[in-house]
Amino acid sequence: MSHAPKDAAARRAVPPVICYPTETLPQPDLALYAAVRDDATKQAELLVKPRDAACFRVGAGQFFRITSVEGPQVGDLNLWHAADMSERFYSGKTRALHGTHVTTGDRLWSSFPAMRPLATIVADTLDWYGIDAFGGSVHDVIGTRCDPYTGNLLAGSQYHHCCHSNLTRALADDLGIALHQAERHVHDVLNVFMCTGFTRDTGQYFMKKSPVRPGDYLEFFAEVDLLGALSACPGGDCSAEHSSDAAACFPLLVEVFAPRPGLLADWTPPTLNGYDGSHGR
Ligand SMILES: [Zn+2]
Repeated sequence: MSHAPKDAAARRAVPPVICYPTETLPQPDLALYAAVRDDATKQAELLVKPRDAACFRVGAGQFFRITSVEGPQVGDLNLWHAADMSERFYSGKTRALHGTHVTTGDRLWSSFPAMRPLATIVADTLDWYGIDAFGGSVHDVIGTRCDPYTGNLLAGSQYHHCCHSNLTRALADDLGIALHQAERHVHDVLNVFMCTGFTRDTGQYFMKKSPVRPGDYLEFFAEVDLLGALSACPGGDCSAEHSSDAAACFPLLVEVFAPRPGLLADWTPPTLNGYDGSHGR
């Protein structure tokens, strides 16, 4: 351990500066979305089986809702632009803009060079939770996704129903491609309903029993045509462990709602990022 300098306390006392103030971030028209949603009709639904994943498609201007059914369960969500899967959900930039956990009004941003909102959260029945005494909150963009590689590294295991593998199988089946091709598209997730944070003393990533109960939901407005994949995590409510078959696991419901034709006539999907891409050359 290095010796602290004489002015250590003064250096620590410097107040933080928000990296990305969001006052100039283009804001979603939540009132328009709410008005459109009132009149929307259900187009499709699917049930994601426990310790498994499924894909779904949502058109630009449609809504999708993820609901806890039967028992407390967390879900790992991947999103891609349906027409170009190289544009996909960027958990790190979403975290940098909106914070460690997301809720109503926050947006799920896409990778470079597009960097635009793929979806906007329009409803969250767990928004009452806030930040608990441990620093935990719900719907994080700080985790990655449970995966068999980390399990193997830490415990020598060969477990095949982590979210990473579930998403890989679901995408391979949906697109009719090989597992190794599908795996390249799987990316860091939005941890739907998961309650997580970093420990205050060691800064380690923690999870705790999710406050989700059957009937709770998180709902999104699709800003572009989306391909989604959702895994019902083998951790169940993530109260004890993941990456095994030990936890009680439940399905998750995905529903897609379409607006009444004409109601979005004045709405335009977000455009590609305006940076010219020349990188100084
Ligand atoms: Zn998982």
